Amino acid sequence: MKPLEQALKVVAGSDTVLVASDYDGTLAPIVADPDHAFPDARALAALVSLGALSGTHVAMLSGREVAVLERLTGSVPGVELVGSHGAEQSGRGPDIEAQAREDLAGVRVRLAGLCRDFPGSHLEVKPAGVAFHYRRVDAEHRPAARAAAHRIGLDYAGLTVLEGKQVVEVTGSTANKGDALLALRDRWAADVVVFIGDDITDEDAFATLRPLDVGIKVGDGATKARFQIGDQAQVATVLESLLAFRQEHRGVR
Ligand SMILES: [Mg+2]
Repeated sequence: MKPLEQALKVVAGSDTVLVASDYDGTLAPIVADPDHAFPDARALAALVSLGALSGTHVAMLSGREVAVLERLTGSVPGVELVGSHGAEQSGRGPDIEAQAREDLAGVRVRLAGLCRDFPGSHLEVKPAGVAFHYRRVDAEHRPAARAAAHRIGLDYAGLTVLEGKQVVEVTGSTANKGDALLALRDRWAADVVVFIGDDITDEDAFATLRPLDVGIKVGDGATKARFQIGDQAQVATVLESLLAFRQEHRGVR
């Protein structure tokens, strides 16, 4: 048995397990149009089946707005949706101060101006912030697009700039995936946690993991996760292995 499978088997033998996953690039393949980033059916089915087992809690932990996750994933019974990097939890919207709201309105106008300067880029307006996506900008202009968006964010002391893959987000929330994962762990009193993610913002969540927890980074690049898998297509296999071990432990099927 490979080290990752061994670790998943240990997790599956624990009393209370939390399985949390990022969405884009993890549960859903990266596509050119983020409005069409639909989930990997096998991965989603395994996650939902895990959530149906006793002592097993599942969550999606994404930078996306919860309403968008709901639209893209359809009905996912038992899966807790945590959006805006943790600023939206349990149906609660983000707490944003009045000054930050005003600043975000200014950021939105300035980033919209960048969209004109960099064809192919687009804005995603979220409850807690504004994201500037430059994946579809010509490769040679991407570094300039990224730098310009970052500079705009830095002009506002009360806002935070988050860097992801081909996206710069300026947010009025201080939420991050690390704090969000810790909150979920506390809420369900989980003995062990599995977290899967592919992006820079997922590193905050990996950093909170304990020795028996399983962090899995999707794709290459430096990471704090204990394990790394080659690409998004392998996520379904990981979740299916965990499901099989957990069903065995729970005496299901
Ligand atoms: Mg991702």
